[in-house]
Amino acid sequence: MSKKKLSIAVVGAGMGGLAVAATLRQVGVEVNVYEQAEQFLRVGAGIQMLPNSSRVLRGIGVEERLRKVSFEPYSHLNRVWDTGEIKRELPMPESLYGAPFLCTHRADLHEALYSVLPPEMVHLGKKLVGLDPVGDGVELGFADGTKVRADAVIGADGVHSLVRDIIVGPDAPLHKGRIAYRAVLEASLMDGEIAPSRTKWWGPDRHIVIYYTTPNRSHLYFVTSVPEDAKWMTKESWSAKGDVEELRAAYAGFHPEVQMVLNACSDCHKWAILEREPLPHWSDGRVVLLGDACHPMTPYMAQGAATSIEDAAILARCISAVEGDDIERAFRNYEANRKPRTSRIQAISSANTWMSGGNDDPTWLYGYDAWNVPLVDASEA
Ligand code: FAD
Repeated sequence: MSKKKLSIAVVGAGMGGLAVAATLRQVGVEVNVYEQAEQFLRVGAGIQMLPNSSRVLRGIGVEERLRKVSFEPYSHLNRVWDTGEIKRELPMPESLYGAPFLCTHRADLHEALYSVLPPEMVHLGKKLVGLDPVGDGVELGFADGTKVRADAVIGADGVHSLVRDIIVGPDAPLHKGRIAYRAVLEASLMDGEIAPSRTKWWGPDRHIVIYYTTPNRSHLYFVTSVPEDAKWMTKESWSAKGDVEELRAAYAGFHPEVQMVLNACSDCHKWAILEREPLPHWSDGRVVLLGDACHPMTPYMAQGAATSIEDAAILARCISAVEGDDIERAFRNYEANRKPRTSRIQAISSANTWMSGGNDDPTWLYGYDAWNVPLVDASEA
């Protein structure tokens, strides 16, 4: 007699939710994704995919599509804010970690992940409002009054996760009084060119990261970190606007290359940088968390989406490895394999020391292979 397929509901169709839907399909799970948004908007932002995440994207089958729309920077370049002196440069040829370093438009990455899923698998306009255990499964309730049942639930619902509140308890993410300005702009608006690297300009109490997002260098992106009154907060952080004059004033005195970029920018967004201490646990019975829902971090190492995508590969491997439908054990194993790594990245990202100088070996971060790293069992961890 053939065994019934395990059915899993994923809450949230961000980078982590779409990535885990793709990896679960690969191991034969029946997946449905429930997203609160009515439609996907092209949010103006760039995103860096370091080799640890592009290796996972290769296994998901989107690497070639992404290469066609991404810029491959020569290096990780770290410079002093005013003099431009190089603090540290790490060339990033693909041969170094066996996978590319891609800088792309965030929406292009999202579209690539969406493209590998059958459209009927992703349900838009479904805002989760409650979860209830029912027999050997979980019932999900949505704001539109509908309910669905699944054998298990993955909360990939981001930094303000409701699933997290339900299984760990309510608590606000940390806002340590820093905000990010960001903009995607046309390169033709500049009076020159930026370096063909992902450059981080390190100021005394602020920084700015700049890179191209397209292979022909037609567009570039910058994202900053600036001190700001900790009361400045918005939940709908992706759409909040910033003031370009304030932004330029915040970077007065920075190197001419930074000034050139900011002078070409006429419109920017602003959002609060949120993080969280590592959680006591990531799962409760048949419900588990993934991505920013369980390990939100500052963007300073460009690892938030990357670790969500890594989570997707490891969670699928853990589910595939358990006998029968011992999904709770799979979830414990997933946490045992992921938490030490994501907690380490959260801590370094919070301190904002990564690549600020020194010569430490980043292989543990960029060389990580989520498809093949040996898995530990939670009972032995
Ligand atoms: P999200 O992308 O937040 O997705 C959560 C989804 O859940 C959303 O679509 C939301 O609408 C949905 N949702 C929420 N609540 C509900 C509900 N109740 N019901 C249904 N759906 C719901 N990471 C990198 O790897 N590289 C970078 O270069 C990088 N740069 C960054 C720059 C900045 C300034 C910031 C702030 C972040 C950056 N990150 C980067 C981090 C990255 O954006 C996040 O870590 C990543 O988006 C997390 O993905 P996620 O799927 O866990 O959550």
